[in-house]
Amino acid sequence: MNKIRIMEASVRKWDRIIAGKSTDGGVLDCPPCRIFYMLICIGCPISEYTGHKFCKGSPYGRWYWHQIEAHGKMRKKVYCDECLEIAREMRDFMVEIVAHLKAEKAASRPDPTEDPEKIDKGP
Ligand SMILES: [Zn+2]
Repeated sequence: MNKIRIMEASVRKWDRIIAGKSTDGGVLDCPPCRIFYMLICIGCPISEYTGHKFCKGSPYGRWYWHQIEAHGKMRKKVYCDECLEIAREMRDFMVEIVAHLKAEKAASRPDPTEDPEKIDKGP
């Protein structure tokens, strides 16, 4: 499973919402939720990045409550300028996580215990 791919799918989801072509179905159509949520929200790249479960620490809470309080609709999508602003923040946050995952991958070195030369150089 490729976390970078999953988060890139999330960026695309928010791009479609910003463009007014799509709605937000929360857990049901969130690419990482579909894989990691399962009622416990463990291992999701968003959760690992924020250090909180259930998208706390991301702009999602603002999006969610704005949708309920300002619009009160079942379908979460862009209805006003504030929706658009928060959806953009959400998309940018997903972009930030993709960049973070890519940087992490680039910085990671192979495990030294898996390097046969190092194992041979015992005392
Ligand atoms: Zn709104």
